[in-house]
Parts: sequence; C-alpha cells; structure tokens
Amino acid sequence: MPPSSLAPESLGPTITIGEILVEIMATTTGNGFLDAQPLIGPFPSGAPAIFIDQVAKLGAQAGIIATVGKDDFGQLNIERLRKDGADVSAITISPDYPTGSAFVRYANDGTRDFVYNIARSAAGEISLTDAAKALIARAGHLHVMGSALSIPAVWPIVEYALHDIKQRGGTLSLDPNMRKELAAGRETGRQFAALLQATDLLLPSGDELFVASPAASENEAIDALLSSGISEIVLKRGQDGSTLYTKTGPVHRPAFLVDEIDPTGAGDCFGATYLTCRRLGHSAVQALDYANAAGARNVTHRGPMEGTSTFHELDQFMASTPRK
Ligand code: ATP
Ligand code: MG
Repeated sequence: MPPSSLAPESLGPTITIGEILVEIMATTTGNGFLDAQPLIGPFPSGAPAIFIDQVAKLGAQAGIIATVGKDDFGQLNIERLRKDGADVSAITISPDYPTGSAFVRYANDGTRDFVYNIARSAAGEISLTDAAKALIARAGHLHVMGSALSIPAVWPIVEYALHDIKQRGGTLSLDPNMRKELAAGRETGRQFAALLQATDLLLPSGDELFVASPAASENEAIDALLSSGISEIVLKRGQDGSTLYTKTGPVHRPAFLVDEIDPTGAGDCFGATYLTCRRLGHSAVQALDYANAAGARNVTHRGPMEGTSTFHELDQFMASTPRK
C-alpha cells in the first residue's frame, strides 16, 4: 500500500466549516413528530461539530468555523468542543438568532426522520471573520460535510479556505452526508461537483457513492472517481465495516460487533478517525480498524457526540470487542 496522499499533521490543523446544533431525540420509535413525544436532549451535535470533536479527542489539531446563538444551546456546544481540545476561536456568537437544532426520531425499520432548524438559525449567520481567516491560514487540511452546504453562507468560506489550504500543499476530504430533509438543489449540485474535483479523500456511505459518480455498479463508480484524481475513497458500510479504494486496489476491514443504541454520528466519527490516522502516518489497515472502532463505539452511546473516542478508548474497545 502506498503512503497516504493526505497532508501530514505537521502542516497544520484539520478544519471544518458548518453547522453546530443541538440534537433533541424522541425516546420512542415511530414515524416523525405528528403527535406529542417524550424527548431527551439537548445533546451537542451538527455533523461538522461531531467530526471536529472526534479529531480533537484523538489529540490532533482541530478547528471549526461556525456560528451559535447567545443561549445555553450554543454555550453547551462551545464548552464541549473546548473541553475536548478543539480550537473554538473561529466560532462566533450571533446576538440575533438562536442556536440551530435537529429533532430526530427513529422509525422501527431503523430509518430516521429529522426536523431541522439550520439555515435560518444562528448556524446560517456563519461568516468569514478575521478569526476564521486566521484559522484557515494555519490549517493543513479541510474537511467538508455535505450537510453544511445547506447553509448558503458556507460556500464562499469553503472556496476561500480550499484555495488557501491547497496552495500550501494542504488537502481536502469530502463526506457527502446527504439527508433527505436537506434538499440538495441545483446550486448544491454544482458546489458538490466543484468539490469532487479537488477532493483527496472521499467518504461516502450507501447510495452517496452513486450521487458522486452515477454508474451501473460499485466498481464502475469507484473506477471513475479514482481516474478523476481522487486518491482515497473509503466506503462506509455500517454493520459491514468499511473498504478503502486506491489505484492499487481495495482493502476491506470488518465492523465490530456491538449493540446499536443510536447510529447518528457514526459516519462523522469514522471519517474523523480515518483522516486523522492517515494524517498521523498510520497504515491503511490501522486507519480503517481505528475508524471502524470509532464508528462502532459511537453507536453504543445515546447522543451523537457522546461516543467520540480517544486513542486510549479505541485501543481498549478494540481489545475487548469481537469483529463481525
Ligand atoms: P451517519 O449515519 O452518521 O451519517 P454513515 O451512514 O455516514 O453514518 P455508517 O456506515 O452508518 O456511516 O457508519 C460508519 C462506520 O461506523 C461503519 O463503516 C462502521 O465501521 C461503523 N458502524 C456504524 N454502525 C455500526 C454498527 N451498528 N455496528 C458496528 N459498526 C458500525
Ligand atoms: Mg449510517
């Protein structure tokens, strides 16, 4: 296996741009929120926030550009990220809008219904502040979550950061992270296509592979993406583990056997851990194993950011958990 093409940790922090939310979850399963539900929360959330919290917990440099409201929901998130070691200097506090939120209820078939308040919450007020520019100027790697593109103000910041970071030899990872509730319009499609051209590491799950590369089979879709210049594609396969594809062929690693309590955040923890391991110089097999462990460990905790892990926790988890 060739070494990773991702920028080493020494180039500077991994940064991400997008929504910080609270998650409030129904404690019963069923369809949606058309009647009164017992709820639990608020939990710190937002795909970019979960991702960056996991990078920080691994002891790597991590920063996020985001906006929260001047309220408990915002404070709860900033305190958690700070405590876990993330750089919170580029999080701004909107005096006018409340922190964004996601209400989630699981259906009996394992699917999820969300009610989001993101683009018109404080999260939508994100902007390229001086603190954001300073964080970008230090960064070695940019991670983009597809969900963040539902906020119109995110795109110009992504473009600025991408140009700046690539210019100094930094790299880009992209997690499509599509949710049916975050309708992707034509504009998002164009942005997604532009990002794919600059992506070094793509982290799709399920059908997201075919959104990135319409094709008749998985292999065809992967081949097209590798030929287009993406050097690493890691397919997240839930309970079936994950597979890395590079020009030298696939590497598959099985999932860990756990009782799933709350699947939200698994993909974010997985991506953060794979990326961080590669930036730290770990082999592909090691990175996939750690990432599978981070995803599996996360689903055993209620709350999307409650199951982020340190390397020590992952080592313990891997030593005591059977693989599928
Ligand atoms: P998300 O729902 O957060 O968007 P995703 O769809 O992007 O997640 P998944 O494939 O669900 O990503 O999960 C990422 C990884 O986490 C998987 O590849 C697997 O290693 C691990 N994982 C997720 N769910 C489970 C599970 N129930 N049991 C074991 N491992 C799991
Ligand atoms: Mg999933």
